[in-house]
Amino acid sequence: MQLNITKADQLKTKPDDSKLSFGTIFTDYMFNMDYNPQDGWHNPRIEPYAPINMDPATMVLHYGQGVFEGLKAYRTETGAVQLFRPKDNFKRMNNSSRLLCIPEIDENFALDALKELLIIEKDWVPSALGTSLYIRPTIIATDPFLGVRASHTYRFFIIFSPVGAYYPEGFNPVKIWVTRNHVRAVRGGVGEAKTPGNYAASLYAGEQAHKHGYTQVLWLDGIEQEYIEEVGAMNIFFVINGELITPILNGSILPGITRDSVINLAKMWGIKVSERKIGISEVVDVHASGKLDEIFGSGTAAVISPVGEIKYGDTVITVSDGKVGAMANRFYKELTDIQYGKTKDPAGWIEPI
Ligand SMILES: *Cc1c(COP(=O)(O)O)cnc(C)c1O
Repeated sequence: MQLNITKADQLKTKPDDSKLSFGTIFTDYMFNMDYNPQDGWHNPRIEPYAPINMDPATMVLHYGQGVFEGLKAYRTETGAVQLFRPKDNFKRMNNSSRLLCIPEIDENFALDALKELLIIEKDWVPSALGTSLYIRPTIIATDPFLGVRASHTYRFFIIFSPVGAYYPEGFNPVKIWVTRNHVRAVRGGVGEAKTPGNYAASLYAGEQAHKHGYTQVLWLDGIEQEYIEEVGAMNIFFVINGELITPILNGSILPGITRDSVINLAKMWGIKVSERKIGISEVVDVHASGKLDEIFGSGTAAVISPVGEIKYGDTVITVSDGKVGAMANRFYKELTDIQYGKTKDPAGWIEPI
């Protein structure tokens, strides 16, 4: 397939690297590709970043048939630009698409198109400490139709947004709130897909957590409401008696690439790591017996997010004395060092541009 490029008449003024926040500024160009049953995925093109003109009946707006991904491009100390495990993002996007009845894309073609777009937008990758270029591949259902069925046509696009450091005030623990009134996803549902409805479904509980003075929600499973699944939009890890434990993927947990990277590093380092069911009661018990060393979240945006406090009903648990634990710190440093090219890539995770 031929990738067509349309040049912009005028380029935007680039922001000051030291003043970036998250997801508010977009670059000069985007990638677009369309799907219809006759031609399959076709007309791949890079063109000036622009609004998408759509019929008010466009299916994604009504029934949420869409999937997305989130990854970053990093600038190294030598000025080079690199990606972290991008093939895994396109593979996961296809897994999400299968659950949402969206036709799969050619993963290698998508990666090549992303690299092509990155080469054009290279100057948008910021270089201030902790900054990066956030990448958002998305697929939306585009039939103008109000009946409930899978769409026949789709748009795949990729947009870029330069983002600031996640921890501008330093690497700090967050307070999390456990709820039994709301669930994010349920086994047999679409929890393991990166699809818009999961995020819409998480907003109400998130606001409740904020009202109580907590940053994130700790999600329990949708059936027993006992087993821990995720924290906010991150995967979760526990360090109990020196052992690293994370909930086993069960269909309602998003299979994070950062999660998988933490598990792999732990194995390389000889740390005992288990993927298994872990209940909130177990966490309360091991804390009471003094064996709960650390809790942290993992995801592309924050990389590692240490947890300092958990509120579960009337129980408040302080974790690692409210400080950043040693393991959280070690994973954070190693992963960011790999992403920014400060240390050797241990597992073929880096994709240079
Ligand atoms: C994206 C996401 C994660 C983290 O995945 P990464 O690949 O590590 O960024 C975890 N949970 C949810 C719900 C997510 O959307």
